[in-house]
Amino acid sequence: MSIRTRLLAINVGLLGIAFVGIMLFAGAQITAGLRVDYEQRLLSEINLIAQGVAPAAATFARDESDDAALAAAFAPYEAQITGTLRLYFTGQSIEQYSGENTARNRTPHPEPPEFEAAITEEPIVNQRVSDDGLLRLFTAASVKLDGQTIGLVQLSVPTSALQAQIAQRWAVLAAGMIALTACAALLVARAAHRMLYSLRQLQESAARFAQGDLKHRIDTPSRDEIGAVAHAFNAMAARIESMLEAQHAFASNTSHEFRTPLTTIQLRTEALKRSPALSKDAAACRYLDEIDTEIARLTNMIQGLTVLARLDADRLELGRDEVDIVRFASALRNQLLPAAEKKGVVLTLSLPDEAIHVQVNLSHLTLVFRNLLDNALKYTPNGRSIHWSVVRDGDTIIHTITDTGIGIAPEHLPRVFERFYRADRARLRDVPGSGLGLSIAAAILRVYGGTIQLSSGGVNQGTTVLVRWRVNPSQER
Ligand code: ATP
Ligand code: MG
Repeated sequence: MSIRTRLLAINVGLLGIAFVGIMLFAGAQITAGLRVDYEQRLLSEINLIAQGVAPAAATFARDESDDAALAAAFAPYEAQITGTLRLYFTGQSIEQYSGENTARNRTPHPEPPEFEAAITEEPIVNQRVSDDGLLRLFTAASVKLDGQTIGLVQLSVPTSALQAQIAQRWAVLAAGMIALTACAALLVARAAHRMLYSLRQLQESAARFAQGDLKHRIDTPSRDEIGAVAHAFNAMAARIESMLEAQHAFASNTSHEFRTPLTTIQLRTEALKRSPALSKDAAACRYLDEIDTEIARLTNMIQGLTVLARLDADRLELGRDEVDIVRFASALRNQLLPAAEKKGVVLTLSLPDEAIHVQVNLSHLTLVFRNLLDNALKYTPNGRSIHWSVVRDGDTIIHTITDTGIGIAPEHLPRVFERFYRADRARLRDVPGSGLGLSIAAAILRVYGGTIQLSSGGVNQGTTVLVRWRVNPSQER
C-alpha cells in the first residue's frame, strides 16, 4: 500500500471516528432539547385550552345543557392540534366529555399521573402506550372559572410527530458529518499529495542520477524533513560528480602519460635490434621480440583505457578521417598474418568489390577490429581457422568474424562486454588479457551508432562476432 493511501486511510479513519463521536453527542443533546421544547409547547397549549374552554365547560357543568355549545368551544383548538382533547368534570364522579365523541364516560381508574399533577398545579407530560396501542404523550390542566375548579382537560398526542422531528435532525446532522468528512478527506489527500510530491521528486532525481545524469540536482527542496534529505542528496550528487570527474581526469592523464615512456622504450629496442653485437645473440633477440610484443599489448591497452576515460567523461569525439573499410580490412589482416601464421591459424578475409568510405577516427576503428581479431587469434588453437567477412547492406556495413576456437559457455556470454570480465578464468590462465578489449570495442561502437553481438555454440564450438557499422554515423551516447 502506498504512503499516500496509508496517510489517507489513517486520517480519514481518525476523522471519521471523531466526527461520529461528535455527531452522537450533538445528536443526543439535540434530541433532549427537542423533547423539552415539545413538552413545553404541549404544556402551554393545554393551559391555553383549559382557559379557553372554561366558560363553556362551566355552563355545561351547571346546566348539563347541550353538547353542541361545548363542542363549539373545543372546535378551534382541535383544528390546531394533532392529538386528542378530553374534558373531565370533577364533583360529578368526573364524567368525561370528548370533543370527537360526545359520549360521557367516567374518569379512568386509576387516575393517570398527569391528572394529579394538574390538580396540584404542577403539570407534567407523561409518555405511555394508550388504549389504541400507540405510544403517546399525555398532559392535563385544571379547568377553572372564578377560582373554582370545574374539571380537567387532557391532551394526548402520538409521539410519531416528535420522532419525525428527531429523525429529521439526525438526518441533517449525519449529512453534515458526511460532508465534513469528505471535505477533510479531500484536504488530507491534497496535503498528502503535496508532501509526497517532494518525495517523488527525490525518487525521480535518484533514478536520473543512477542512469548517469550526474549533473542533475533537485531544484527547490521543500523546507521540511524531506527537503533536508533533498539537500543531502544534492550535496552527495555534487561530491560524487566531482570525485568521478577527478577520477576520469586522472585516468585520462595517466593513460596519456604512459605513452611517452613506452614510445621511448620501443625506440630503444629497435636501436638495440639494429646493434650488430646483439643481433648475433639469439637469446637477446628473443627477449627483444618479447619486449616488443609486450609494448604493443601495453600500447593497445593504454589506447583502450584512454578511449574509455574519454567516453566516461563524455569527451570522445567522432573522428573525421575518411577511411575505405575495404582497404582498412585487408591492411589489418596483413598486419596480423605473421602472428596467425606463427600460431598455425588460417586467417581469411572476404571483401566487397567496391570501396566503402566512412568517416571515422582511424585509431577507434583499429581499436575495435584489432581487439576482435586479437581475441579470435588468442582463443583459436593451432591448426584451426578464422574468417572475417565484410558485406555492405545499404547504409550498414556488416562484419562477421567467425573463429573455430575454444568458444564461450552460455553462462558467460551475457557478461563478456563487462569491463575486466574474462570468461572461465581457469581455462584462460595461459592466455594473456585483461578483460577490457570487448568493452572498449562495444563502447566505441555505441558512440558511432554501431552494434556488436557475440554468439557461440558453447565450449570448443567456436565464436562468431557480428558488428554492424553505419556508413554515415551520427554521434550517440
Ligand atoms: P583483453 O582484450 O583486454 O586483452 P580479453 O581478451 O580477456 O582481454 P575481452 O576481449 O574483453 O578480454 O574478452 C572478454 C572475454 O570474452 C575473454 O576473456 C574471453 O573469455 C571471451 N572471449 C572473447 N572473444 C572470444 C573468442 N573469440 N573466443 C572465445 N572466447 C572469447
Ligand atoms: Mg580481448
